[in-house]
Amino acid sequence: MSAPLVFRCRRCGAMNRIALLSPGREPVCGRCKADLDTSGSPGEVDLAGLERAVAASPVPILVDFWAPWCAPCRAFAPTLDRFAREQAGRFLVLKLDTEAHQAAAARFGIQAIPTLAAFRGGREVERTSGALPLEDLRRFAAAAAVAV
Ligand SMILES: [Zn+2]
Repeated sequence: MSAPLVFRCRRCGAMNRIALLSPGREPVCGRCKADLDTSGSPGEVDLAGLERAVAASPVPILVDFWAPWCAPCRAFAPTLDRFAREQAGRFLVLKLDTEAHQAAAARFGIQAIPTLAAFRGGREVERTSGALPLEDLRRFAAAAAVAV
């Protein structure tokens, strides 16, 4: 028995549990009926979207606090995308643009970017600053998934 996969609807933000992905049949959001993106690729959120996701997600969340002007952030994006797709449905990966959403950066006390923060059970469990190589990102996420 494996746990159901969880996908966040990009339109309404609802968390959708999917027991089994069947090829050729794309699932839709249980709340708004939009097609669900099951690729796992990181979704963009604002402060309200992040707070709702943190409160509602049954799977751990990894958030990349970044900004468009930050070269290390842009260089890190493909690594984050690869990790997010590997973990599709098991880890919710989100990106928050700290330039567009400065209140969110203040709310989470973001001092440097990129900052990666992991949330589980409604609260932050791990945080690190600076872009990580894929192996280190996997380790960071694995630690966050079991942290108390
Ligand atoms: Zn929806």
